[in-house]
Amino acid sequence: MSEEEIPSKRRRVLDQKDISSKVNVKVLYNKILLHRARPVYLDRYGYPRPDGQHPEKAKFSNLSSVQPINDSDNKTCVRCEKSFLLTESIENTSDKKCVYHKRRSYQGKPHDYCGRRRGSRGCRTADNHVHNDNLRDPSNYIATIKKTIPDDGSPGIYSIDGEMSYTVKGRTLTKFTVVDHNGKVICNEFANPVCQIIDYNTEFSGITKSDTDGTTTILKDVQNFCLEKFSSDTVLIGHAVECNLIALRLIHETIVDTAIVFPHPRGLPHMRALRTLGATFRAVLTTAERVLWRVWILFYDL
Ligand SMILES: [Zn+2]
Ligand SMILES: [Zn+2]
Repeated sequence: MSEEEIPSKRRRVLDQKDISSKVNVKVLYNKILLHRARPVYLDRYGYPRPDGQHPEKAKFSNLSSVQPINDSDNKTCVRCEKSFLLTESIENTSDKKCVYHKRRSYQGKPHDYCGRRRGSRGCRTADNHVHNDNLRDPSNYIATIKKTIPDDGSPGIYSIDGEMSYTVKGRTLTKFTVVDHNGKVICNEFANPVCQIIDYNTEFSGITKSDTDGTTTILKDVQNFCLEKFSSDTVLIGHAVECNLIALRLIHETIVDTAIVFPHPRGLPHMRALRTLGATFRAVLTTAERVLWRVWILFYDL
């Protein structure tokens, strides 16, 4: 994203006095590290963890991970919960549309977005059913590695975000963005999943056909960028970062996750929506957090 592409509201944030330039980056790193997610939370929130036995494999310890991986063509749609044959979605011959709710219903309550009762007809329609059976596939992971700490004393602080679309293989990375602690966008790339896309998930991802068709960047390139830019001590900040790491097939354990720092009062599986976190943050900001906050304002347009 060039500076001209940054909306004016965000540019104002960039133009503000640079808080981070007044802060020793090593001190900043150590302060932000205080918010690091402990291993027990990484497990609980479904992060891919290293499998001591197999370097290219991840291990998942939370409850949903114990479900067996379904590699057959018989799938269950992650949106409408109907069973479907993957070949039907690929060929797009079925007239059985996917009718689903934009947001889930929890504990029998009405759906968040439309207010309709649980079990009611969906408020959204898509041409195909979709699955995410690849989310718990532990294979083909890479892990960030230990590196010498740079002269400034900080192994780096970055905010990351990925967009995903539905392919025949499941939920797959189609865009990756990295912002450094100064709010500078250092990566904003579309990724071509190199397999058939069933649904771009445009309403949530913003991704369209021309975005992925127009790029030769693939997941491997994005992984290489991560390995080069991040060490295992780099702080990666985001909201529900595990989704991004799973899409990246990346194991990384120095994480500041706003979903963990500010958990939902009712506990998992509830997570506070990023848009509701703003008021909470403003009340608890320290200097270091304000820098973090700036990154989030830029990144998530809060
Ligand atoms: Zn709905
Ligand atoms: Zn469906």
